[in-house]
Amino acid sequence: MGNWQQIVVPTDGDRITFKDGKQQVSDTPIVPFIRGDGIGPDIWAASQPVLDAAVELTSGGRRDIRWMEVYAGERALELYQTYLPEETIEALREYAVAIKGPLTTPVGGGFRSLNVTLRQIFDLYACIRPVRYVDGVPSPVKEPEKVNVVIFRENTEDVYSGIEFASGTPEAAKLIAFLKDELGKNVRAESGIGIKPISQFGTDRLVRRAIQYAIDHNLPSVTIVHKGNIQKFTEGAFRDWSYALAAREFADRTIREDAVGPDGPGGKIVIKDRIADAMFQQILLRPAEYSVLAMPNLNGDYFSDACAAQIGGLGMAPGANIGDSAAIFEATHGTAPKYAGKDMVNPGSVILSGAMLLEYLGWQAAADLVHEGVRRTIAAKTVTYDLERQMPGATKVSCSAFGAEIVKHMREAV
Ligand code: NAD
Repeated sequence: MGNWQQIVVPTDGDRITFKDGKQQVSDTPIVPFIRGDGIGPDIWAASQPVLDAAVELTSGGRRDIRWMEVYAGERALELYQTYLPEETIEALREYAVAIKGPLTTPVGGGFRSLNVTLRQIFDLYACIRPVRYVDGVPSPVKEPEKVNVVIFRENTEDVYSGIEFASGTPEAAKLIAFLKDELGKNVRAESGIGIKPISQFGTDRLVRRAIQYAIDHNLPSVTIVHKGNIQKFTEGAFRDWSYALAAREFADRTIREDAVGPDGPGGKIVIKDRIADAMFQQILLRPAEYSVLAMPNLNGDYFSDACAAQIGGLGMAPGANIGDSAAIFEATHGTAPKYAGKDMVNPGSVILSGAMLLEYLGWQAAADLVHEGVRRTIAAKTVTYDLERQMPGATKVSCSAFGAEIVKHMREAV
């Protein structure tokens, strides 16, 4: 247990632990939170009461999250003169399950990105983004309610592994020479070079989680999204390993799409694959045919934002980064610095990420109540500026008032 400078550990809560890869949660778990930079503090102030109320209302007051503030980003720079203090890392390691607002990516400095760094330190290999329409949210498509998918994006490999060499450097020249001399492959001189590793290990653990999620939530299919027609040994291998994993570990619960006969899948989860470019069309043209999606890192990066836009934008899209013994739930948008401290922005992303956290704790009723509260608040058209300006007849409310409206509607719903 840390002897920490700034972090105050709640005295009457419990650590979440893991047994056989499964989280063990008491009625009063300690959960670290990072407010985040820019609009982060505004959003957290609106979100925490929503999550607390949902837990209280669905447990008769028996359960309560013991929140523990930990610091990263600009606040940490003020307190510790570093963006990511050692004691924050220790606390996250010790308490394992956390929620965070957006963090500024320091320009220059030693970090690529605080978010990427946190994902690497805790090996949070699955980025999970549910994309589900909330009735009444302005959307650019005709039938946004048909989109209801959960994206599992691999978070540690692919072109994000950071192996890159700039054009004209000795390293790039050396690799170009190696490719020519040793492997007989020509790369234009003065090219920049990036490496794209995709492993069976990385694929298996992501796809295992995606299939397990479909089983746990009774969902009809898992679609592997890849560019294997061109990148055969990375994206193509991702596809092949995914099918092999489904056949090896989930034989009795899954069936390949090409093996489905005229009588249907017989209650099994259909495993299918789509080429990434075709999938961008499919999600617009036939969204109802897709449920859980699993994909390598870069596809997942593009696809999750495009998909979120389809149901009304990033302001409300939740996300989680999950590993085998740690999880960080987070806003998917950035710090929107020009709105910081104005109590103005939409706290929906952190609130819905909080609902994912509640589900992860095993508190499904509380998670469902948050969704119901958000649904009713939007149906009542009391919304923050970003939604109000696109919703005829809506009433504009502040960030904190939006949170309070959700609490009010949750109380009415139970
Ligand atoms: P951004 O998401 O902060 O802002 C883009 C625009 O989206 C804003 O101007 C605002 O109009 C709107 N917006 C964002 N969140 C909103 C909300 N909750 N409610 C209403 N409107 C909202 O993206 P950016 O400007 O590209 O990035 C700003 C900073 O955030 C950068 O330092 C970037 O590195 C960082 N960032 C962090 C994360 C993260 O922590 N996960 C993600 C993306 C960007």
